[in-house]
Amino acid sequence: MACYICGKENLVSVLDLGQQPPSDAFLRREDLSRPEVVYPLEFCVCQSCGLAQLNYAVDPEKLFRDYVYNTATNNALKVNFKTLVGSLVGRFNLKKGDLAVDVGSNDGTLLSYYMPFGVKVLGVDPSSAAKLALANNIPTINDFFSLEVAKRVVKENGRAKVVTATNVLAHVIGLDDFMAGIYELLDAEGVFVSESGYVLDLVEKLQYDSIYHEHLRYYALRPLNILFDKFGMEIFDAERIPSHGGSIRVYAAKKGSREIGQGVKGLLDLEERFGLYGGRAYADFAARVRQNKLDLQKFILEQKSAGKKIVGIGAPAKGNTLLNFCRLGPDIIDYLVEKSELKIGLFSPGMRIPVVEEARLFAEQPEYALMLSWNLADELIPKIRRNGYKGKFIIPTPKVIIK
Ligand SMILES: [Zn+2]
Repeated sequence: MACYICGKENLVSVLDLGQQPPSDAFLRREDLSRPEVVYPLEFCVCQSCGLAQLNYAVDPEKLFRDYVYNTATNNALKVNFKTLVGSLVGRFNLKKGDLAVDVGSNDGTLLSYYMPFGVKVLGVDPSSAAKLALANNIPTINDFFSLEVAKRVVKENGRAKVVTATNVLAHVIGLDDFMAGIYELLDAEGVFVSESGYVLDLVEKLQYDSIYHEHLRYYALRPLNILFDKFGMEIFDAERIPSHGGSIRVYAAKKGSREIGQGVKGLLDLEERFGLYGGRAYADFAARVRQNKLDLQKFILEQKSAGKKIVGIGAPAKGNTLLNFCRLGPDIIDYLVEKSELKIGLFSPGMRIPVVEEARLFAEQPEYALMLSWNLADELIPKIRRNGYKGKFIIPTPKVIIK
């Protein structure tokens, strides 16, 4: 397969996570008697431009139309969006009536924070979450973003001062068309802000469970620079943010329209020193992942053999990469507790572990709870303790920790 950014056929495999179903393809009870479709899940790096990516892309129609994730269920993300919107309004001097577009707007949470400033908003999202946005009076185009959609928006609303895409750029299959659409949509001095999982965090903190089919690419700044350059834009600011266990936020604009800040060089140097380009960072990562799998399996199987009950906390997409890769099924993990109404009553893809209401954790008090939403552990653990859970938590990565 050719690289998504530079187009060269120079991908080298770093880590093979096996054949897996899409990690958000939760099953209904009636699906259990049917076979599941699985796809290769292999993490690779382009030796030419340095972009980390999967070497197989699942048809997006199969991944995103029935997306069962709602931004409004994630408090940390809501705080991030609110802060981001406040800073965008101030920094880029957004005025009443200016247009702000959010691509991959989900339930409209991010856009809702523009409302107090009188900024005109528009969301674009292909999933069923768009219905929630519309119900909250956030104008939303229920479709995949593309050059064609961008042209339609410009025709009807004019060009945008700010376009945001949080946790979207890694998912897009037609990257070139998407980027052409962003260029089309932006005002001459308009700003495109993109947040994506940062591959440096993924490697450093052993977040191999962030690798799943929805995430086609795992960005670092150097390949992103090459991507924007290709479409007449340039990144003028970049920073690391804590979302999803560590993300990179880049600010881009049409070439020459804004001065390039120090943050850009700082991150480029960091990536170089870390060994992302020609260094040993990826090879070491793969070796650590394989060891982590063995450590986790060993601990869990020992406890299970000793008669202890183990359940999972949360049923996030990433949890399924971990459960499927480590082969932890319902014979070992009794159930996953979840707050999202959309997932309760369903079964995890691949391992088919039932997803149940959180109340069962408190009623049954299993000895161990595997923290699958480990990125929210700091927020979740004290909350679950306060609500009365007396067992121990297993944090799976970067090292297996019991607390
Ligand atoms: Zn490349």
